Amino acid sequence: MTSAAPQMKPWIEAMHAYVPGKSSAGAPVVAKLSSNENPWGPSPMAVAAMQAVLADGHRYPDPASTALREALGRKYGVKPEHIICGTGSDEILHMIASSFAGPGDEIIHVRHGFAVYEGATRRVGATPVVVPDVDYTGDIDAILRAITPATRVIYVANPNNPTGTLLPAADVRRLIAGLPSDVVLVLDCAYAEFVDGEYEDGLALAQTLPNLIVTRTFSKIHGLAAQRVGWAVAALPLIAAMERVRGPFNVTTTGQAAAVASLGDDAHLAMVRRETIRLRGWLEGEIAALGNAGLRAIPSACNFILIEFPESGPVSAADCNQYLLDHGIICRYLAVQNMPRCLRISIGTETETRTVAAALRDYVEGAGASA
Ligand SMILES: *Cc1c(COP(=O)(O)O)cnc(C)c1O
Repeated sequence: MTSAAPQMKPWIEAMHAYVPGKSSAGAPVVAKLSSNENPWGPSPMAVAAMQAVLADGHRYPDPASTALREALGRKYGVKPEHIICGTGSDEILHMIASSFAGPGDEIIHVRHGFAVYEGATRRVGATPVVVPDVDYTGDIDAILRAITPATRVIYVANPNNPTGTLLPAADVRRLIAGLPSDVVLVLDCAYAEFVDGEYEDGLALAQTLPNLIVTRTFSKIHGLAAQRVGWAVAALPLIAAMERVRGPFNVTTTGQAAAVASLGDDAHLAMVRRETIRLRGWLEGEIAALGNAGLRAIPSACNFILIEFPESGPVSAADCNQYLLDHGIICRYLAVQNMPRCLRISIGTETETRTVAAALRDYVEGAGASA
C-alpha cells in the first residue's frame, strides 16, 4: 500500500467552491438583499400545490416533468419537446458544458458575468475565455472576436447578473447572426420578467436555430428559489444531448407542482413585476441623489441594482457593506467577483427598500462625503 492521497483532477483543483450571498449580519437581520430573491414569496397557489403533494413524498417525481413542460409550452407558445427542466437553471448550465465541451475546448463568458459559468466550464476541464465588457455591459463585437476553432459554448446572461445591464434586442440578434454553426450560444434569461421595454427573449429562435439555448428559472420572479426549478428551450438535437447528462429525477414533485401552479397565477406575477420595477426606479433615484458622494447606480433591468463606489475618497463599497451589515442589512459585496468597488442590492419590499436607502444616506453623510 502506498500513502498517496486521492488526487483531484487538475481542472477541479483550479476551481473554488461557490461563495453564496451572505445570510447573516453582525446585527439582527432587518433586510436580506443579497441573493436577488423575490421578497414577496411564491404565489399562494404554488404554496397550496406544494402542500397538496407532500404526502406523495415516498414516490419518485415524474422524471420528464411532463405537466410542467406542457404548462410552459402553453404559456410561452413553445412545443413541450423543445423544453428541458433542471434542478434550477444551474443544473442546465452545467448540462450544457458537459454535453458540448471538455479538456482542450474553450467556453466564452463576459467579465462581470454570472459566477456559475466559470464553474461549469472548469468542472468539465474546458478553458474559460473571459471577454472584457464596456461599462458593465456585454460587448458583442468582442465576444464574436474571441471565438476560435476551439470555442464550443458561449454563456451570455441577458439581462446580466451581477451588473443588471441589458443587451439591446438588435445586439442579441447580431450575436446570433455572427455565430459559427458549431458554437452553442446560451442566453441565460433568469431576469427576463423584470425587463421594462424592448427585449429579445430568444424563445422562438431557440426552437428553430440549431445552436441556441435559452435558459429560464422559477427562482426569481416566481419566488421559488428553494424549490430549484429551471427550464430551457432548444432545438431537438441539443435537447437530446442534454437529456443524456440530466439527473433522472432532477425536479422534485413539490417543485414541479409549485411551478405549474405559479404559471397560472398571473396576478401574483404581475404584482411582483410591477412592485419590483417601481421600487427599482425609486432606489435608482435615491442613489442618484447621493451623487455628490460619487456613488453610481448602474441602470438595471433586473430585480437588483449594482452600485459602483468611487476609486478613492471617504466612501467605499467595503466600508458601506460593513456599515449595512452592522445595521442588519445584507447586500452582496462583489470583491469575491473582482469588483471591489461594487455592492449589489436586491430589490426588497417597500419597507426593506426604504430601509436600505436610508442606511445608504446615513452611511454617506456619516463618512463626511455628502453634498
Ligand atoms: C439567479 C440566476 C439564475 C438562476 O439560477 P437557479 O439555479 O435557477 O436558481 C441563473 N442565471 C443567473 C444569471 C442568475 O442570476
